[in-house]
Amino acid sequence: MNITKDFTWEEMLYSHTAGMHNIINQPGKEERIAIEELVKRLLQPLRLAYGKPIRITSGYRCAQLNKRVGGVPSSQHVKGQAADCVIKGSASVLLGVLLVHKLPFDQAILYKKQNFLHLSLHPYNNRYQILFK
Ligand SMILES: [Zn+2]
Repeated sequence: MNITKDFTWEEMLYSHTAGMHNIINQPGKEERIAIEELVKRLLQPLRLAYGKPIRITSGYRCAQLNKRVGGVPSSQHVKGQAADCVIKGSASVLLGVLLVHKLPFDQAILYKKQNFLHLSLHPYNNRYQILFK
């Protein structure tokens, strides 16, 4: 089921690790709203600005899944506010597109070695923080 033209609920909730460990990665109502906001206000506009597919490698994570993948307990993935994005080529390009188009975001973390961009959106208090790992 689509959230927007280019993003589906399936990809925002999918986790290989959850499947392997029989973890049911289902968001509550509040988390579902946050996921929708993240996709509608940030990921879809970024997708349109970039003009090519963006693959989500990790979106929402329930607390159990987050623990299993080694995420910090305060991770915005648990709140439905974050997604890890992968493109063909360097993830730094995506960071550039984000900034040039002045899209709203809370944190953008560029994982250079693993080549993905963690993006989050807070419902009302965005810090516009850029980090490099
Ligand atoms: Zn992340």
